[in-house]
Formats: sequence, C-alpha cells, structure tokens
Amino acid sequence: MKTFCGRANPTTGSMEWLEEGEDYDYHQEIARSRYADMLHDKDRNVKYYQGIRAAVNRVKERGEKAIVLDIGTGTGLLSMMAASAGADFCYAIEVFKPMANAAVKIVDKNGFSDKIKVINKHSTEVTVGPDGDMQSRANILVTELFDTELIGEGALPTYEHAHKYLVQEGCEAVPHRATVYVQLVESRRMWSWKKLFPVHVEAEDGEKILVPPSEMENCPGVPSVCDIQLNQMPSSDFTTLSDVVTMFSVDFSKPVQSASTYYRVQLEPVKSGKAQIVLSWWDIDMDPSGMINCTMAPYWVKPTSALQWRDHWMQCVYFLPREEPVLEGEKLYLIACRDQYSVWYHLQKAREGEDEGDEEEHKADALVESPVCRCRAHLLWNRPRFGELNDQNRTLQYIRSLRKVLKTDSVCLCISDGSLLPVLAHYLGAKQVQCMQPSRIDLYHPHELWQAFFKANHLEDKIKIIEARPELLKPSHLEDKKISVLVGEPFFTTSLLPWHNLYFWYARTAVNNHLASNVTVLPQSASLHMMVVEFQDLWRIRSPCGTCEGFDVQTMDDMIKGSLNFRESKEAEPHPLWEYPCKSLSEPQEVLTFDFTKAVPQHCLSTEGSVKLLREGKSHGAVLWMEYHLAADISVSTGLMQLSNEKGNCEWNPHCKQAVYFFSSVIESEILSDPTAVTYAINFDTKTGEIAMDFKL
Ligand code: SAH
Repeated sequence: MKTFCGRANPTTGSMEWLEEGEDYDYHQEIARSRYADMLHDKDRNVKYYQGIRAAVNRVKERGEKAIVLDIGTGTGLLSMMAASAGADFCYAIEVFKPMANAAVKIVDKNGFSDKIKVINKHSTEVTVGPDGDMQSRANILVTELFDTELIGEGALPTYEHAHKYLVQEGCEAVPHRATVYVQLVESRRMWSWKKLFPVHVEAEDGEKILVPPSEMENCPGVPSVCDIQLNQMPSSDFTTLSDVVTMFSVDFSKPVQSASTYYRVQLEPVKSGKAQIVLSWWDIDMDPSGMINCTMAPYWVKPTSALQWRDHWMQCVYFLPREEPVLEGEKLYLIACRDQYSVWYHLQKAREGEDEGDEEEHKADALVESPVCRCRAHLLWNRPRFGELNDQNRTLQYIRSLRKVLKTDSVCLCISDGSLLPVLAHYLGAKQVQCMQPSRIDLYHPHELWQAFFKANHLEDKIKIIEARPELLKPSHLEDKKISVLVGEPFFTTSLLPWHNLYFWYARTAVNNHLASNVTVLPQSASLHMMVVEFQDLWRIRSPCGTCEGFDVQTMDDMIKGSLNFRESKEAEPHPLWEYPCKSLSEPQEVLTFDFTKAVPQHCLSTEGSVKLLREGKSHGAVLWMEYHLAADISVSTGLMQLSNEKGNCEWNPHCKQAVYFFSSVIESEILSDPTAVTYAINFDTKTGEIAMDFKL
C-alpha cells in the first residue's frame, strides 16, 4: 500500500507530497531504534540473566513448573535466557509486528521454538485459557519496558493489567523492583534550558536590557521529559543542594497501580542556594534481596558509571516550576506527582508548627497539575534553543556584527523563528525593523510570543511583525521601502539536521525583489564542515551485535542493516555531540559554502575530495555541521568549538545537534608515514534541499 504524506520541506520550505510505502515508517523505526543499543548493554543483559536464573530456580525449588510471561520481548532475548535457565514454557509478547517476526526467527535459530511462543499482540489484548493465547497464568513475569523516566513507555498500566489477568498471585518478577532517586541542584546551565535570562545590549544611547514577558517568568514549561547523558555534565556546571534521596519505588511482583498519585519526601538542604533543578535516575533490583542491581546513578554518585555506557536509559532533568531560595538545614518537602506516563516535581516548605499527621491538607498542596506551557515560549523553543538564546557569547557575536552592518537609515527584515534579533537590531539603531517567522507551525500562534516580548519591552510600535510567508511578501508590508539589511540567525523550528537552516537562503531568494541593490545579508554566507571521528561509545547504537549473552541475534543485525539501507542512500542523523564524546581522526574540513548574498542557484552544489586520517583510531563516521559567517571576521559555529590537538578531543556547541554519518564499515588507522585517506563526495541538491553523501574508506 502507498500513502501520500504531506510535509513542509525543512530546507526549501515548499510543501511536498511524498509517496510513502507502508514499509517506510517501520524501516525508520527499526533503523533508528534502540534495539542494538540494548543488545550492546552488557551490564543490563548480564543482570537480567542472573535475575532470571534466580527466579526460575526459586520457582523450581517450590516444586512448581516455571511458566514465564515476557512482555515486550523485542528480539526474544529475555525469553531465551529464561528457557536456557530451565523455564518450562515462555510466552513472549511483542506488539510491534516486525519485531515479533524477528523474534520468531531468532527463537527458531537458537533452537527454542518448542519452549517459546511469540505472540504478536499488545499485552492487554492477550487472553488466558484453554483456547487462549496462554494456556494458564504465568508464575514468572519478565519485562523490560522502561525508559529513562522509568514509566514513560507505559510500564505501569502494562504491569497493572498483567497482575490482574496474566500472572498468578505471588509470582516472581524480574526485575523485582525499581527505585527512583532524586537530588536537588542549582545550575545556571540547566536552568538556562527553561528560562530566558535578560539580555544586555550596549547601545549608542546607553545600556538596554531586554526582559522576558511576565507570563514567561512564571510558566511551568512543558511536561515532556528532559533526558540527557548526565555523565557528560561537568561537576562545575551545577551545585548539589541535597543528598541523593529515594523518591519512590515500585514492587513489580505485587499488583501495581497506575492511577495518578504523588510521593512526598523530606529534604534538608546541605547547602544554601537556589533550588532550580531536580536530577533523577532509577535503579532496578533483579531479585528480591537487591543483590543484583542495575543502576543509572551518575558519576558523582557511582564513580564507575561511565563504564556502563548506554543510550536507551539515561538520566532526567526536571525543572521546578520556579526558582526558590533554600537554606542549609531548613525543612523542605520535595513532591513528585505522576500520571500513568510522566513525573513532575515541586517543592514545599514546611510550615511553622506543622503537624505531620495532616494528610488531607498535604494532599491538597501536593497534587499539582502536570506542567502546561502558558507563555508559548516552551512550545516554540525547545530546551537547547533556550540554552542557545541564553548564550551570552553567541549574542555578543550577533551584536558585534549588527553594529558593523546597521546604519541609522537601515530598513531591516529579520527572518528566523522566535528570534531576538529584531530587538537587537532596533536597539542598535536600525530605522525600521520588521520580522517574520516562516515555519509552518500555525498551531502555536508563534506571533503571540513576539507580541508579548515586544510589549514587555515597550516595543510594540517599534517592530512590525509580518504575518506572511516570504514568497507572499508585498511592498506594503515594508511600507514600500526596500530591505537594506536582511538578517537571520538562522534558526527554524522545523530544522532537524544542521543544513535544514539553509531555509534562510530560500527565504532570502523568495524576497529577492524586495532587497535594495546594495543589501547587506547577515549571515553573509554559511559553510558545511566535516570531520572523521572515533566515538567513545555512540558507535554502539548502529553497530551489529552478532551474539548477545551466547544467543545468536544476527537476524536483528541484518534487519537493522536492511532498514538503514532502505532508501539506498544512507542518511545522516542528528545527535547532540556534547553528550557523546569523540576523538577527531582528521582535520576539520570545509566542504561546501553557501553564498547568501546571492539567490539559491538552479544547479546543484557538489564537491569531492579526501581527508587524511591523522590519528590512530577507529573511523566510525563523519560529523558534519554548519558555520555561519555573520560579518567580516565574525563567525558562529553550530558544531566544533574547539579541538585539543594532542589527543583530538572535541568540544561541541552545546546547544545544537550535529549530523552524524555512520560509515557502514569501520576502519582502523595507525599512525603511518603515509596516512590513510577517506574520500568523499557531497552533493547539495538545490531543488530538494537535500544533501547526499558518499564516503569511501
Ligand atoms: N525484551 C527485549 C526488548 C525490550 S524493548 C530486551 O530486553 O532486549 C521493549 C519492547 O516492548 C518493544 O519492542 C515494544 O514494542 C514492546 N512493548 C512495549 N509495551 C508492550 C506491551 N504492553 N505489550 C507488548 N509489547 C510491548
């Protein structure tokens, strides 16, 4: 079956109708899935195996048959572990059809077809009885349904249902329990992902301070979890205000309730400071005694944590509704509210002479609605974008560049989503400032955010918002003037890959007729840069596994490979590389330039060349990023910020995702007198806005 999917092309901005076969979605899903990462997660796999063996033994010691229910079997791994451990029968449930099919093949290939029945259903659809999917209820419940937030993938309702209908009372569960831990911290860096700080601008007529609107100050933000590799956050970027405390735990061997609830723990700050952030992670005990423990604790809690790298489980950053000063030794309560799928936090100060027993009163204070953004900024800007807008050094580069190009008679148009550039341009003396944000996200009424901003800073009648797309710009929008300065960050909310922000170039081309003959475009150009790298860990997510704990999972490897090659030309994928350390093996190289002073050409832009591998290491892939040349001598990089030369350690822009192109095979280079070269061919198709690339090792 074929379906037509309409979407706005992120680079060219035009509306496209693509014919997608029904395979497309699931190939995307498999290619970008976390299955490989899970299979590479040795610590997880070993502990599951130990826990499963122990559970099977406990059941056998009671003289019972071991009947296993494995919910979300994926590759069938945990069921195969159970069968090897001596389970009498396993029901392996998997809702995602391609995976259920793969599980059947893998189970068969490993010789467990008679012991494992794969059922392609959601667990809540599974029936028990003589004619049912399962002959009888199971006495061992095995699952791995957890995300970084523990409950985000629906573990609670799935367990609730399983205990009611699919397993026996008093069953064994692997894992046996999960515990969520929290720590209160102050961190300007992380707080800058939720809140916009005032922007200071040195103008001709004195210092101006751009402040966010009041509704933004008090906005609780969005409920989506902020999951990051906390092990990459240096300890100098935050101050811990409390010890680590247990927030709540769930015993999976007993009936589980998924209904919304809250948990309340007492905290005593170990330091006075500004409570802003709750850092959180969890661990699972594979057995009741807690001897087999798999933890996500970060490096300052567990020094060996970096050795157990994984990307499918990280740590969570929660933003308190507002910043609150706390005093060392003061009595505080931290409250976690949760619904079936997510958790959110707030603080409560203990009241004078408080009576611990007053449960009803606590409850009223504790139950707080899940965060809903009221100021619109959290809908328009994601967390890295907040961080980017709060990056004072970056703002300074724009201020310096604007100062160079603006004149008192400048007619300025800014094209970027939710940008502060129009305000900067006004403060720095442009005569007339207009702005447009062209992304097709009408849902969020993006102009209202700008309106609120301009109002909060008394600029309503100084900056004009043009509510038209670039191709529909009319002379009347510009008061019949020509644009003398066209500016953009460029930033568009629809961009996923670095070059999608080239949409600025297309928008610039669309407004060509409105540009003065001596127009200044800022940025004047952009360039695409490339470097070959060896990843410390990220390579695992796309690397074949072969065997996992002795089980042959090559079928899964082949399936992922097939999906990666589904479109024939492999695609680059976006990753925030500050979270994923890598070492450069080649010099960074500029591969393409895009001249914004001219319109987008009709012909393709292509380049070919080679880079030498200068350091010893494994070439896992190429990283690509954009640099914007704002004005003479002023550039901003969305990728590499610094490269330490001896070891090749890279420092990446912490607010942007870079593009990673994983090579299909890895080569190992040694230091040679004649270094190995990687040849590349990169083509930017100006019609489709797509970049195709090919590398040969
Ligand atoms: N058990 C495997 C895979 C874990 S990933 C392993 O440990 O390696 C979780 C899998 O559970 C996914 O494939 C997802 O499709 C499936 N899943 C999640 N909830 C489910 C449910 N309620 N019923 C059936 N499958 C489910």
